[in-house]
Amino acid sequence: MTTTTTHIDLPSSDAPVDAAPMVVFDAVTKRYGDLTVLDRLDLSVAANEKVAIIGPSGSGKTTVLRMLMTLESIDDGVIRVGGEPLTHMQQGDRLVRANAQHLRRMRGHIGMVFQHFNLFPHMTALKNCMEAPVTVLGLSTDEARERAGELLNMVGLGDKLDHYPAQLSGGQQQRVAIARALAVRPKVMLFDEVTSALDPELCGEVLSVIRTLGSEHNLTMLMVTHQMGFAREFADRVCFFDQGRIAEQGPAKSFYENPQEARTQQFLRAVM
Ligand code: ADP
Repeated sequence: MTTTTTHIDLPSSDAPVDAAPMVVFDAVTKRYGDLTVLDRLDLSVAANEKVAIIGPSGSGKTTVLRMLMTLESIDDGVIRVGGEPLTHMQQGDRLVRANAQHLRRMRGHIGMVFQHFNLFPHMTALKNCMEAPVTVLGLSTDEARERAGELLNMVGLGDKLDHYPAQLSGGQQQRVAIARALAVRPKVMLFDEVTSALDPELCGEVLSVIRTLGSEHNLTMLMVTHQMGFAREFADRVCFFDQGRIAEQGPAKSFYENPQEARTQQFLRAVM
């Protein structure tokens, strides 16, 4: 697989890094009925930081990403992206519920790649990547086509622009999904177990694209993953979730070499 980043218009990795955090969860609580899924969660992610989110099934990892995508409501607390409340707007000295325009703008800061690709099956790879720039950003068809072509080229699929998802391997579909998420030029990329539905031999090509994105572009990344080897090598920080809270976190190397909490040690013994 060849990937190229020469023409793509994303911020380069030597772009200045803001001191202010890019993503903040401030005492965020999420409940489904009686079940508290996130329990006053505090999480602050710096601009350009790569954070791996790991933990047992049901610990709230995917909910964190879905809340950032505004796919789930917030029961308590505030989420901020780029310093602005995600689902609320400042009005004088108080926060009011965001209007549709604010939500659309905030959603445009964030791209998400799902476990099951979620491509539009009736659209070619190119059309999949053109949809959001046209409908959300209001780009012309020509501009969106050019941007989509560049992104698909970057993920090594420059020769598959006219293929439909069913004509592509799982790894190729996931690379289209990454290109599609990048097409709105997000500041933050979310990856939710993006290799879990792939045969092991196809994981490498997807992880390689993520690695290139991480090293060559100034993107903040949150990644829910079971790939401990990749998390250790790629992430700046690992957050271990347990029962809706961060039970332990730290720089990837020290986290894996010297976990402090008994619960973390037990989890890592089971998965590594
Ligand atoms: P993880 O990603 O760590 O496996 P999730 O964030 O997907 O965990 O889910 C956390 C908990 O919330 C689980 O117990 C799950 O069953 C529950 N949950 C998730 N989505 C819903 C929903 N829409 N309705 C009710 N419960 C949900």
